[in-house]
Amino acid sequence: MSQPLPSLVERDTRWSRRHALAVAARWFSAPLMLAGAAGRSAAMAGERWFDERELGPVQVHADFSLAPHTGLLTEVTRLQADLRATLELPRLEAPIHVFLFERKPVYLAYLREYFPRVPYRRALFIKERGPGMVLAFRSPEFEVDLRHETTHAMLHAVLADLPLWLDEGLAEYFELPADQRATGNPYLTHVRWLAWAGQSPALEPLETLSELNDMGRGEYRAAWAWVHFMLHGPPAAKSELIRYLADSRSALPTDPFSVRLRSAIPERDKLFSAHFKQFKS
Ligand SMILES: [Zn+2]
Repeated sequence: MSQPLPSLVERDTRWSRRHALAVAARWFSAPLMLAGAAGRSAAMAGERWFDERELGPVQVHADFSLAPHTGLLTEVTRLQADLRATLELPRLEAPIHVFLFERKPVYLAYLREYFPRVPYRRALFIKERGPGMVLAFRSPEFEVDLRHETTHAMLHAVLADLPLWLDEGLAEYFELPADQRATGNPYLTHVRWLAWAGQSPALEPLETLSELNDMGRGEYRAAWAWVHFMLHGPPAAKSELIRYLADSRSALPTDPFSVRLRSAIPERDKLFSAHFKQFKS
């Protein structure tokens, strides 16, 4: 398996997209290439990854056994179907490669070797012209990280220019298991409380953000909240999101989403607040 050179890195991460564009990384698929790196594991000295799975277009390579993670692998498989069904996205054509590491030092050694300019992040999504790649290690947040980054990878595989806030809002939404997405996100209680206090987040400021460094917890929460509103609020909001994504795929100029959503729903902000006041978890 050989990979083209990746250079776009972003994520969870607060890693700057602009800086990421400057990243030039050598890429090799086999963990063998890291032999001699600090923190190398026995698996890394082998010629193949310890465990590899093909989940439709998602190819998972791990330096540990994935047998205890069959539930998570099923969720990753389902994630693509959920994204396609929810957002009416086309089928993935290119593969997505997911690289998983048992130990943080090995993950760090891997990043140092192949992505030396990338600052440490617990998980990464990397893409430029070739297939998208997700890298993560088995931290306590491993499963959430994997769903979050894989969501980015799946979105970027079919959407060329997704606004940052929407990219992150969707990843925050889909990072939870399917049965927890609508009601189980810790953001929900906070956003509901804000709605009752008359402090719902405005959409327009989110659209001005272009760097992950600009996104703190409040911005992630606000982006998640607008995605939740569109997916579980008035049907017209979800319809406008789907139309917006379809127009984005056509690469035709489009008004900012905030403008389109207000046109589709003149009482947009009032309904946003009402949605969270009334939403039953
Ligand atoms: Zn993200």
